[in-house]
Amino acid sequence: MDIFINNSLTKKKEKFVPQDKDLIKFYSCGPTTYDFLHVGNARALVVGDLIYRILLAEGYKVNFVRNFTDVDDKIIERAAKEGVDPLVHSQRFIEECQKDMKSLNLLTPTHSPKVSDTMNEIIEMIEVLVAKGYAYVAEGEVLFNVPSFKDYGKLSRKKLEDLQHGIRVDVDAKKKHPSDFVLWKPAKPGEPAWKSPWGPGRPGWHIECSAMAKKFLGDHIDLHHGGIDLMFPHHENEIAQSECANGCTFSNNWCHNEFLNFGAEKMSKSLGNVITIRAFVESYGGEVLRHLLSSVHYRSKMEWSDGVIERALSDIERIHLFLLEFSKLKTSNKETPANIEEVKKIRKNILNELANDFNVPGALAELFNLIRLINREYIASSSEGIGQKLKESTMELLSLMAASTGLIYENPQEILDKVGQARKKISGSDNLTEEKISSLVAERKEARISRDFKRSDEIRNILQDSGVEIKDNPDGTTTWSYK
Ligand SMILES: [Zn+2]
Repeated sequence: MDIFINNSLTKKKEKFVPQDKDLIKFYSCGPTTYDFLHVGNARALVVGDLIYRILLAEGYKVNFVRNFTDVDDKIIERAAKEGVDPLVHSQRFIEECQKDMKSLNLLTPTHSPKVSDTMNEIIEMIEVLVAKGYAYVAEGEVLFNVPSFKDYGKLSRKKLEDLQHGIRVDVDAKKKHPSDFVLWKPAKPGEPAWKSPWGPGRPGWHIECSAMAKKFLGDHIDLHHGGIDLMFPHHENEIAQSECANGCTFSNNWCHNEFLNFGAEKMSKSLGNVITIRAFVESYGGEVLRHLLSSVHYRSKMEWSDGVIERALSDIERIHLFLLEFSKLKTSNKETPANIEEVKKIRKNILNELANDFNVPGALAELFNLIRLINREYIASSSEGIGQKLKESTMELLSLMAASTGLIYENPQEILDKVGQARKKISGSDNLTEEKISSLVAERKEARISRDFKRSDEIRNILQDSGVEIKDNPDGTTTWSYK
């Protein structure tokens, strides 16, 4: 199936055409490992994994590279504070990060290089840039000369003239141009250092991604992903380094995920401190975080709030209650061709949504159409059971959804228990706002329409626990009041 991607380089939605359709070359900027990762870091990790999974589900083979930045100022600073070797410190947090990645159900990339293992390639690339006249040595540093690359700014649409505004020229007198950036810097005493033609030192941040992409994917890649905060200057600098060193286009397509914002809504006390991936996952399970981050399109801004957590809890509850009920359904000899057709249609729609700029929320809406169909026809009604063929195509579709989105991976009973505890925490510590009450009332109405009485009763209980009484009126409307 053709995939369409909103290409940040051209600012257009375009058909994705890999150079070699049998092997896509995909690079995603990975984390700097100086501490436990934050839920905000999880968004870029989940989006990179979603892109990888969807490309696989659409039938492509993918060479996927996501790096670890294990040499960095922040790492050196933290390690010095704790009195440990910086590479020991960063290795410790690579391992912690890998645990978080596992709990978020991230697939292992084809390659996960570290800066400390890529030093030869980094030095080689800098040598090429110096030899070709794009970089120069000044006081032991190697700097990239930005005006030497005439396409600089093509990704972020920034003009070199405009970049000079606001930069204090007197800050760094050795720079030929204020936008020039560091490729290699000399080590200060006590800092980790590698031998180089310019003396012992370490690389600047940007060069690692150019060198790693070249090492594992070649000079010209198909797709590059990262958070929107990396577009300038990091990705702009990657393009400059790679295109000047390699003499060809770096990446045909660029994807940027938007921010996860904090602070728009005051978080309740029960959730306020839950800010690292580890702490969130311990309280709610990885699937809740993954679901929450996948339920908004990657190019939309996302606000971290109790509301989005509650929505993720409700979705997960609906999905896993369904899985439990579905597994108990008896098989009958009677097939229902109309329903088999309907499941086929939903399957096609899911693949279409995923191929349409990785629209996971659209695919999730289709999953709920499937759940509604099977609930209405077989679980909530007194049917004689589900036909074998329909059961198989439903199961196939559920596993397709799980593989292509990475959602639906925890044990249903365990996650339902966690969701139950999380709900108690939320409703017990914080009175429901009117907005939340209205959304629960609306959700209950939907549950009743799809004959999901278990859920509708649960919502009634949640509301009752918070002192809210609901009344179903004869005209079909529902009103609520405080007790
Ligand atoms: Zn990068």
